[in-house]
Amino acid sequence: MNASPEFEVRSQKSEAACGARRALSSTSYTGLRTRDSRPSVRGSIVVISAPSGSGKTTLTRRLLEAFPRLRFSVSYTTRARRAGERHGRDYFFVTREVFEGMVRRREFVEWANVYGHLYGTARSQLRAAQEAGRDILLDIDVKGHAQVRRQLPEAVSVFVLPPSYRELERRLRDRHSDAPGEIRRRLETASREIKHWREYDYLVVNDHLDEAAEALAAIVRAVRFRRSSQTERTRKIVKTFGG
Ligand code: ADP
Ligand code: 5GP
Repeated sequence: MNASPEFEVRSQKSEAACGARRALSSTSYTGLRTRDSRPSVRGSIVVISAPSGSGKTTLTRRLLEAFPRLRFSVSYTTRARRAGERHGRDYFFVTREVFEGMVRRREFVEWANVYGHLYGTARSQLRAAQEAGRDILLDIDVKGHAQVRRQLPEAVSVFVLPPSYRELERRLRDRHSDAPGEIRRRLETASREIKHWREYDYLVVNDHLDEAAEALAAIVRAVRFRRSSQTERTRKIVKTFGG
């Protein structure tokens, strides 16, 4: 790990993503399957957003560790790769030209400019996960969430809030990853983002970490049992009753 505090936090984030993806690649889960080997339960899309410093990375890491069958959506971005990050695992790092080509070909289900860089979620990844009967987690900002919401109303969304502005400021400061000016910028962005809380299905206040992690796990567990995820499977059961 790099001696600079900035790199330290970045590597922690990257390790988190790395662990999560390792867990994903080691799983042999193929979804609840019918006899013809197609999954009979449709995978769900779970969106998680939070102001920077709220603890989203910490919580997401725990979630992916707890649910090895949950896929993580690897976004495309034009921002530079940070130390420890790997192309295809943390992000697909592409040039602006490549990104804009994907935008023109409508390959993104959503995309946004976040802190001056472009980030986008590939439509193909979501489709593949859904068809395989796997739930997929999208770590995207509020602008991206608004677009997902419009296009995929069946997506479930969670907004993670810090317990207060003061506590958010403390976490950003104590994380030692950003200069004071950058912290001010993130706090200003947070003040704008937090106003979007009404657009989300679930709200999780990350006050006590264990409780927040448990709340997120409960949401992800419940998502699988929604009627919309189980329509095909239930139809098959009902058919055995002659219905
Ligand atoms: P984000 O990904 O939302 O920017 P991080 O996961 O990096 O946030 O968390 C920001 C900082 O707050 C980190 O130093 C992390 O260890 C700390 N943190 C996360 N959750 C809590 C919590 N519930 N209580 C206190 N500190 C927390
Ligand atoms: P970072 O560069 O620190 O990894 O991420 C910065 C912000 O970009 C985070 O709030 C993260 O949720 C958001 N983000 C990451 N990927 C995407 C994406 O594909 N779409 C959108 N809209 N935001 C993203």
